[in-house]
Amino acid sequence: MAKTIKELQELMVEQLKRRGFYPKDDKEVLLRLGEEVGEVMEAVRENQSKTDLSHEMVDVFWNLLRLAELKDIDLEKAFIEKWEKNEKRPLDKEVTDISENS
Ligand SMILES: [Mg+2]
Repeated sequence: MAKTIKELQELMVEQLKRRGFYPKDDKEVLLRLGEEVGEVMEAVRENQSKTDLSHEMVDVFWNLLRLAELKDIDLEKAFIEKWEKNEKRPLDKEVTDISENS
């Protein structure tokens, strides 16, 4: 069952409140975010299982959602705004074959 980013954020907030970990300090969330980015790097460097890597990536996303919650940011809306902004950026050269970029 697919969920929107907003629904994931609501799920996270409900769990954090119920378990007493609702974020109040942005510095704590930022430290956790940095720590989890390091764990993703470690998972890649050590060629850990796809499951382990995916869980570390979720930890990063989780803390990004915590920061968004703390700063009252709608990440889903912001994602679309940023995507639209990127779409309007001029390109240095025309891309004719997207397989060149994969
Ligand atoms: Mg982790």
